Amino acid sequence: MTGFAVRPDGPARPTVRSSGSLLVDNIGELLTNAPGAEGDPLGLRRDAALLIEDGEVAWVGPARDAPPADRRIDAGGAAVLPGFVDSHAHLVFAGDRAAEFAARMAGEPYTGGGIRTTVGATRAASDGELRATVARLRGEAMRQGTTTIEIKSGYGLTVADEARSLRIAAEFTDDTTFLGAHVVPPEYADRPDDYVGMVCGPMLAAAAPYARWIDVFCERGAFDVDHARAILACGQAVGLGVRVHANQLGPGPGVRLGVELGAASVDHCTHLSDADVDALAATRVDCMCAEGGHTATVATLLPGAEFSTRSPYPDARRLLDAGVTVALATDCNPGSSYTSSMPFCIALAVREMRMTPAEAVWAATAGGAAALRRTDVGRLARGARADLIILDAPSHLHLAYRPGVPLIRQVLHNGVPQCPQ
Ligand SMILES: [Zn+2]
Repeated sequence: MTGFAVRPDGPARPTVRSSGSLLVDNIGELLTNAPGAEGDPLGLRRDAALLIEDGEVAWVGPARDAPPADRRIDAGGAAVLPGFVDSHAHLVFAGDRAAEFAARMAGEPYTGGGIRTTVGATRAASDGELRATVARLRGEAMRQGTTTIEIKSGYGLTVADEARSLRIAAEFTDDTTFLGAHVVPPEYADRPDDYVGMVCGPMLAAAAPYARWIDVFCERGAFDVDHARAILACGQAVGLGVRVHANQLGPGPGVRLGVELGAASVDHCTHLSDADVDALAATRVDCMCAEGGHTATVATLLPGAEFSTRSPYPDARRLLDAGVTVALATDCNPGSSYTSSMPFCIALAVREMRMTPAEAVWAATAGGAAALRRTDVGRLARGARADLIILDAPSHLHLAYRPGVPLIRQVLHNGVPQCPQ
């Protein structure tokens, strides 16, 4: 069945949903992220089955109680989990920066300045070239289990190039983010105030019809806190949700700015003060739901960036112990984290960031959904979108235990099995 997902202020994007009913049974370990028992945020069930109707989860229960269905997938005792939600990716760009990576590995530091290299290549690319790159990376991510992805602009940095970046991104996802304030482009190097005025004025006006979110790179060398606050406030005024690139390269005010503005997520969080952690923890919203609440502002950690820039990893344990909701995402971009692999990020988070495998898998699914303020993805319960992964493994533990191994056997998106691309 083909329908159209129409956003009130954006273009129509075709979606494909399953027709008839489809039963996935003989599931050895099912992660629902719909917790029941105390201390089990993954809502883990054994010997389970899951029924899909009209692209949604219609029923979850013991395999022995499975209802009849038009079609069946035998999971063969494998683990099944929600599709990954990658809440931070920069897929609209041209060129690559492999030489810059090699130079870093030979000892040069990462400063963020290479973003301008990609800006030049992106401006020179045709719409078709940019679209082909997004399609290639979206397919690559899907094959690795990512069923929901956020895509940012930020390599155009002119009114026309930011608008077309978002227009192309909107062909692939509902979660598009306007990042005109990625860096100050070279032609505005001596007059950053003028650039901020342009971002808040004509660029935002051209970008907003294609964007759900607004984001700023709030960092020394990019945008200071006053510029960042002004830009995010302009975005909020036209109805965009707030996200912030914050505290990646050093300590700074970005995280607290995000909290002040009610951001859905502050991303990177590599260099945090106690005040930053306290501010995030204070956004906690307690509820009577099984999860027991979450923080309204999620800390999204992007270990691919620390890997690729050989930098210290963020301390996920400190955030989790303070009660902060944590998401994991790839930060997929050609400069500082050219990976689309959520399993790779899970493995890094467990090995390098003191997360348990259960915490990391939760952060890559339900955590990402929280960072995008979505309740239809990141979990497998009645009414959720039928986005799921069948692993080539008996347990989610294998995602970190067997790093670098292609463990994604099958991906269902809106209940539709995805063909290898
Ligand atoms: Zn980023």
